[in-house]
Amino acid sequence: MTVESKKQFYINGHWVNPSELNDFDVINPSNEEVCAIISLGGQDDTNAAVKAAKDAFENWWHTPKEKKLNLLNKLLEIYIKRSKEMAKSISIEMGAPIDWANDQQSESGESHIKTFINKFSEFKFEKYYDKNKGNYISHEPIGVCALITPWNWPINQIALKVLPAFAAGCTMVLKPSEIAPLSGMLFAEMIHEAGFPQGVFNLVNGDGPGVGTQLTCHSDVDMVSFTGSTRAGKLITKNAANTIKRVSLELGGKGANIVFADADQKAIRRGVRRVFNNSGQSCNAPTRLLVEKSIYERAIKEAKEVADKTKVDIAEKSGQHIGPVVSKIQYEKIQKLIHKGIEEGATLTAGGPDRPAHLNKGYFVRPTVFADVNNDMTIAREEIFGPVISIIPFNTEEEAIKISNDTSYGLTNYIQTNDKEKAQRIARQLRSGMVEINGESFASGSPFGGYKQSGNGREGGRWGIEEFLEVKSISGWK
Ligand code: NAD
Repeated sequence: MTVESKKQFYINGHWVNPSELNDFDVINPSNEEVCAIISLGGQDDTNAAVKAAKDAFENWWHTPKEKKLNLLNKLLEIYIKRSKEMAKSISIEMGAPIDWANDQQSESGESHIKTFINKFSEFKFEKYYDKNKGNYISHEPIGVCALITPWNWPINQIALKVLPAFAAGCTMVLKPSEIAPLSGMLFAEMIHEAGFPQGVFNLVNGDGPGVGTQLTCHSDVDMVSFTGSTRAGKLITKNAANTIKRVSLELGGKGANIVFADADQKAIRRGVRRVFNNSGQSCNAPTRLLVEKSIYERAIKEAKEVADKTKVDIAEKSGQHIGPVVSKIQYEKIQKLIHKGIEEGATLTAGGPDRPAHLNKGYFVRPTVFADVNNDMTIAREEIFGPVISIIPFNTEEEAIKISNDTSYGLTNYIQTNDKEKAQRIARQLRSGMVEINGESFASGSPFGGYKQSGNGREGGRWGIEEFLEVKSISGWK
């Protein structure tokens, strides 16, 4: 097994050595072996990257839109050419099965580049608010941005920040997750190959207490765009307060999937598969399956069948299966929560503690179904971030809405019913940034983000670009 040495950072248009050696092992979660060694940066590296971004800002802001679009188109070309490499990096660093890594994880990067090119082309940065009075509005880049991303959809999250920041005219320092940094480093190579001006994009690897905290406290950083846990989101908000930075947060979730008796026959299986995808490591996973009492027994049976049929295997094997979870820490946290579910009296109907019997190493979790869950149990309240689903029965529409909203999160909720009016009535009452009805996917460029402790930002399309802009109001323009 080759161990890649990836110790450099991308600062001011060059790959540079870290100011001090501080090696960190990147672990392949399928076999628990080291697959790459990166460096964790320190204050000097953070300062150098922020300085490069600050120095590049004025020029990049005033670079004509046409030139920015040309660079984004070039990046798209390179991304398409290297997309298999991207899938491979993601598969190794976070355990996504290779076909899934190609079709979903890597593909998300390409699709975001295309959508942002489109939305950026039509975005109007200046317009009159009141032509008669000569009141004019100018949207201007906020400045130097720190972009801090997680490991679960690594390139998806990076693309959702870097691309709109480019379009807005911001310069940036990306700190990808130290657990899955390889995809971000490959993306930096692509940006370099595309010929973006020096200093516009910089990358420093590091952890939360190190580079993460240094960036969020830095007086020359104007904005932090963060995706990750609610725990880290709170710390970042506190650290950024001293310099009144704008903080945009995309945090955890505990989505409800409300299934009525009149839902289509595939609704339950679709919802369960949705949780197990990506080994349960999606912030928008519908992990609380709320089922109308009259179809409760059928729901348990179908959920169990899906769990028993879901294959678990190493990431490099092709075919349809789920891979390991990302790390030992995540594996142990999930095991603890599965035990907690049993202790608190939920009925374990599929899966359960420990690895699947056919795998003796790797961070593999058995696809697990709990029935008879009530919404006060720990497994219904905490984000488990593994292939674990909790089934909760309900009697009435009002009760389903109440249970769905009874959570500190508010990212995505799901409704399954044949009754259009009922679906729309409920969608209006759910306290979440997104509501999906009957498995219908969202259009590309639609806003992604949460209410409550799921965050305060909106990523994607026009909303994603607006996140990185200031609004200037000017009178007497005519
Ligand atoms: P995490 O919060 O542990 O880490 C995310 C990133 O923040 C990493 O780069 C990490 O190094 C950095 N970080 C950690 N502590 C920090 C601190 N104090 N200051 C600055 N940076 C810090 O999260 P994770 O385990 O990598 O990711 C999983 C979480 O991300 C889940 O909770 C998931 O729901 C959430 N997520 C949310 C969305 C969304 O759009 N809402 C999307 C994907 C993932």
